[in-house]
Amino acid sequence: MSETARILIVDDDQALLEALPQTLRLRLAGIQIDTCDNAAEALERVAQVDYDAVVTDIKMPGKDGLAVLREIKELRPETPTLLITGHGEHDLAVQALRGGAYDFVQKPIDRDYFAASLERAIELRRLGRQVEEQRLALERHARVLEHVDNGVLLVDGTGIVCHWNPGAAAITGLAPADVLGRAAVEVFPRWNELEPLIPVGERPGPGGATARAIPLEVDNRELWLSISGVLFGDGVVYAFRDVTQERTLDELKDDFVATVSHELRTPLAAIYGAAETLRREDLALDGAVKGKLLAIISVECERLTRIAGDILLANTLSSNRLKLDERHVELGPLARDVVEEMRAAFADRADIEIEFVGEDGSASVLADENRLRQVLINLVENAVKYSPNGGHVEVEVEQLPSSVRIAVRDQGIGIRSAEQQRVFGKFYRVDPHLSRGVGGSGLGLYISRELVRRMHGRISLASREGAGSTFYVDLPLVRVAAATTRPEQAVAG
Ligand code: ADP
Repeated sequence: MSETARILIVDDDQALLEALPQTLRLRLAGIQIDTCDNAAEALERVAQVDYDAVVTDIKMPGKDGLAVLREIKELRPETPTLLITGHGEHDLAVQALRGGAYDFVQKPIDRDYFAASLERAIELRRLGRQVEEQRLALERHARVLEHVDNGVLLVDGTGIVCHWNPGAAAITGLAPADVLGRAAVEVFPRWNELEPLIPVGERPGPGGATARAIPLEVDNRELWLSISGVLFGDGVVYAFRDVTQERTLDELKDDFVATVSHELRTPLAAIYGAAETLRREDLALDGAVKGKLLAIISVECERLTRIAGDILLANTLSSNRLKLDERHVELGPLARDVVEEMRAAFADRADIEIEFVGEDGSASVLADENRLRQVLINLVENAVKYSPNGGHVEVEVEQLPSSVRIAVRDQGIGIRSAEQQRVFGKFYRVDPHLSRGVGGSGLGLYISRELVRRMHGRISLASREGAGSTFYVDLPLVRVAAATTRPEQAVAG
């Protein structure tokens, strides 16, 4: 035995009470033995000391060994108890085993058997303690895991999710009940493709695997998780953190560089070209050509000014510094007005027909008229810009039970479904190489969405690639008499 074991021997036979310890000391090194000759004292000691084993005679005056056994089981259910029975007392021995005794030894005592049985009992207790310590340590770790911000997920060898900490639930929005006990492939779309991409190490920390960012689709949201795994028995424990924001910033930076550098370079090149041509002394330019070159400079400068204005406005919106002048606005007349303005602006696009559809009626919303006009102009401009083969552009105002919907419909190039959410992002343009030759800052829809949001409305789109797009602006309706109430409280009028 490696550690000192402490046992208690209980017997009213003084001779045995002296002989047994001697026998054991000879056979079990380093054992510490307490003795006592009655049940009451034995139980007192058991209550005080967590013995590795107890040996008790089954027949004692007052309380017998079986009763002592019962009380020990209550006090210390883990302590193995050996009973000494008289010769041939098989029934008592069986009762003792039924009552939870670890073993019994019959008189006359076979000393070697007795020592061996007791040694096994002590070993059993030692292992029991170890298991208990490990269980407590595991519980402690599990409690620690409950409090870490990072997500922790255990997938066993059969692909079942066995652990899902609150961090994982908070990051993904998936409750433990939706995940635990289910196959990872059922819970996470494309898990079979993603799992091989996740670095898995033998151990955590510096010697382990370096986390990698992977996209995970949860509830139609794309989450980017920086994730790595550690082998655990026949499964893998994965730890992850949410890097969606960092990822979005990276994408924003890329979109910004791609769009803005292109959008600045194109007008600057045109201005530079026109100015250089005007400066050349070897060319005799007539008045008309000079006029055209100056017009190029003026138009491109205006384009640059618009981009600078868009960037400034987007920035003001992002930092929530834009003040709106909200008033009662009738949408029919406003939309009709915008349609007329746009017809004039695109007079050179004979292939495009811009139309107002729907009622002119008195559908009223609480909005900043100029900003709403800006949104509609942007939508109609886009409808024309992204209809290279011409077609109809319709602006429709429709009154719904509790809102007013403005739809701007075109028959242009359309937007693939994968891109439909992204077009509202800052600086995002569908065609990264801008090969369709249509200019833009990629800020128009971002600005429109933010403006509509601030007017308590919503902007959305329905589109099919090659078949045109419809952008919807939904604004809460207000009763004429209740024009000053908050729009959230508005009722259909
Ligand atoms: P910009 O038009 O300046 O590029 P927007 O934010 O207005 O920026 O639009 C973002 C992107 O969405 C455009 O680059 C274009 O790819 C796409 N888009 C917007 N409106 C339409 C439309 N009506 N039809 C097809 N694509 C569109």
